[in-house]
Amino acid sequence: MLHPPETSAASQTYLGLLEKIAVAANEANSTTESLQKALMFICQATGWSLGHVFISGPDNILRSANIWHIIAQHQQANLLRFREDSEARPFAKGEGIPGRVFANGQPEWMINAQQDPAYIRQDSIAKTSLKSCFAFPVLTGDKVVAVLEFYSSRAHQPDHALLDVMSHVGLQLGRVFERELAQQQLADSEQRHRHILNSTADAFIAMDSLGSVTAWNHAAQRIFGWNSEQALGRTVAELIVPPAFREAHQQGMQRFLISGQASVLGQTLELPAMHCKGHEFPIEITLWSIQENEEWSFFAFARDISARKRQQDELKHQALHDALTGLPNRLLLLDRLEQHLGQRKEQRSGLAALFVDLDHFKRINDSFGHEAGDSALIEVAKRLQQAVRPNDTVARLAGDEFVIACPDINSHRDAAIIAQRILDTLAPPMQLLGDSIFLNASVGIALADQYSSAENLISAADIAMYEAKGSGRGAYQLFDERMQIQVSTQLRVENEIRHALEHDKQQFCLHFQPIIESHSGDIIFLEALVRWQHPQRGLLSPIEFIPIAEETGLIVPLGEWILELACQEANSWQQRCQLNRPLGISVNLSGRQLAQADLAQTIHDIMARAQLNPARFKLGFEVTETEIMRDPATASATLQTLRELGAHISIDDFGTGYSSLAYLKQFPVNTIKIDRSFIINIAQDPADQAIVSSVVHLAHALNFAVVAEGVENPEQAQMLREMKVDYIQGYLFAKPQPSEQLLKLINQQKGRLYEAK
Ligand code: C2E
Ligand code: CA
Ligand code: CA
Repeated sequence: MLHPPETSAASQTYLGLLEKIAVAANEANSTTESLQKALMFICQATGWSLGHVFISGPDNILRSANIWHIIAQHQQANLLRFREDSEARPFAKGEGIPGRVFANGQPEWMINAQQDPAYIRQDSIAKTSLKSCFAFPVLTGDKVVAVLEFYSSRAHQPDHALLDVMSHVGLQLGRVFERELAQQQLADSEQRHRHILNSTADAFIAMDSLGSVTAWNHAAQRIFGWNSEQALGRTVAELIVPPAFREAHQQGMQRFLISGQASVLGQTLELPAMHCKGHEFPIEITLWSIQENEEWSFFAFARDISARKRQQDELKHQALHDALTGLPNRLLLLDRLEQHLGQRKEQRSGLAALFVDLDHFKRINDSFGHEAGDSALIEVAKRLQQAVRPNDTVARLAGDEFVIACPDINSHRDAAIIAQRILDTLAPPMQLLGDSIFLNASVGIALADQYSSAENLISAADIAMYEAKGSGRGAYQLFDERMQIQVSTQLRVENEIRHALEHDKQQFCLHFQPIIESHSGDIIFLEALVRWQHPQRGLLSPIEFIPIAEETGLIVPLGEWILELACQEANSWQQRCQLNRPLGISVNLSGRQLAQADLAQTIHDIMARAQLNPARFKLGFEVTETEIMRDPATASATLQTLRELGAHISIDDFGTGYSSLAYLKQFPVNTIKIDRSFIINIAQDPADQAIVSSVVHLAHALNFAVVAEGVENPEQAQMLREMKVDYIQGYLFAKPQPSEQLLKLINQQKGRLYEAK
């Protein structure tokens, strides 16, 4: 698997977005620049038309920061009033969308601001085509320092995955505010410094052509420790130049006396200096020279910049470390890995990356609260550092993901020893709020080769970590050749899908399989099953490409195309099918599609284009229970909007997940499809009979219809009929086939299929 299952629901695009914003925030010179970039990235990633920033003033009122991002086709004149209105209007806490975000520190979503009475810029937005709006806070600690709002010209249902990512963006941008504040304070203090120095705070040192001190003021005494009596007549080299630099210092002086040239003169430099007590500290020094009567004299102003350095180091540290655990963050990890990779090439020393992911960490947050979760992460960070060598880098990437870079590791065996040591250090229970809890981890190991980059080393370790999780948690796994092949195959298929979608969509086509009423044999629904007519590899089963499309998010455009095809086919059936009763087409939807806020709108548009007659054709959707459970709230809302479009909803592969029928009752679902694995042995296996029969009873009691899929022989069909299963589907009646063929069959048989023909 290329991507962790936990992240495949929240779109990969959004995570990429978060990373882009984090990098831009780290690199930006000002808050304005990073806010401007954040608006742009968010509009690009979401396809929303407009983004705008409010900033909180010292009076605790939000005002427009006059920072906007507007995509080109929206630069219309009628936006001007909306902009003027937004820029002129102050928002107190609780007032309007920005004011509510300001007051609650929580994101807000409005499906259609044009029609929502709670929207207070009604007059000015009415002239525009803007509809949906969401806004989220930029936080430093608990304080809302800014609010970002976005508009789309379409009405979108709330997208929780998006809002979740935006809350991280809000924290990330908050750090830029903190940094700017720190820098401001730093600049202020520097200015004060300079002022004092202009009177007497800078050390003033004069030297003759041999470097012997001829003048040494009070400040010099304070900074370097020597009093003027001690200093006069001795060389600066012995007084203030640290031993390691003396040689270079002398040579520089010599060169200057011979050539009259020195790159250091007339400049302000930062150099290490030495105190009379022997400790080193950084100084800023300005040097110049004067020649009088053939004799050179040198002068210097110097000041101690230890405090400034410390502050700078502190800022740098912040940008490169995780705030919670103090460990290096992704940026620093990448930098270290690159360094090691460079050295690896020169010195042929090895490098291993270990990806450590805690097992079931979410449960700790869920059952003990976030504070406990944070303490657990801090404890894990501590233990990981104890488990490795001082030269190794333990970094925290995100959440419960850590990566350890181990230089000088040449063999799988050595890496495995470290992995086992990590698992062993994490094994003892942790004390959290008086409870003992056990945390296991899964570890993936990748060794660098001559082709490695820092990024792909991490992702190889990540892939191996997922294998480790799959093969039972609390284990480690090495990235091997098989995974390498799998990764490159997946990458190739991904590219081919993308290429086909962009250049030749007709490579994807649909086959249809009838779903029949069990007692009459009447065809009620046709399940649409996608196929790929691959230019080199022939007709491919969805098993070979749907999982990859799902992982990479390509299922969203592919699924849209499948819907388009299904509706086109329905239109053609509508005209050529001779049945005088309605038929349904049932389309499989993936979880990624379910998470799209505008899914219902997309389906509505496609249906309208295909001019389907609802009296002749009914659209149905199949969703697996696992996909619904990934984000039940969003799934429920989306399914509800699909129901409102008149669609029939089925739960696919029922029995393979963990949900109960009683739980599913709260979702707007019509039909349960019992998974094929319960049907295969139903004629022989009393356990399967008992399961299916009780599912049917309960489903009927809860008002669900039941479909059995994968029916291959008459014994199964007979048994299912006796159990009062409403509909059956399987090779016994018809295999999935192109619509042309199936249409002929249906017209010949008058829409009725009997078994064992
Ligand atoms: P599914 O939704 O459970 O589809 C039923 C699968 O069982 C189909 O495989 C079908 O050909 C197969 N099948 C039907 N009757 C029998 C039978 O009697 N015996 C046996 N052994 N198999 C039977 P197919 O077409 O290869 O599709 C596999 C899976 O790919 C589907 O499972 C579905 O999860 C996914 N898929 C197919 N088309 C689409 C699509 O358009 N969109 C999405 N998101 N997924 C799709
Ligand atoms: Ca299905
Ligand atoms: Ca199924």
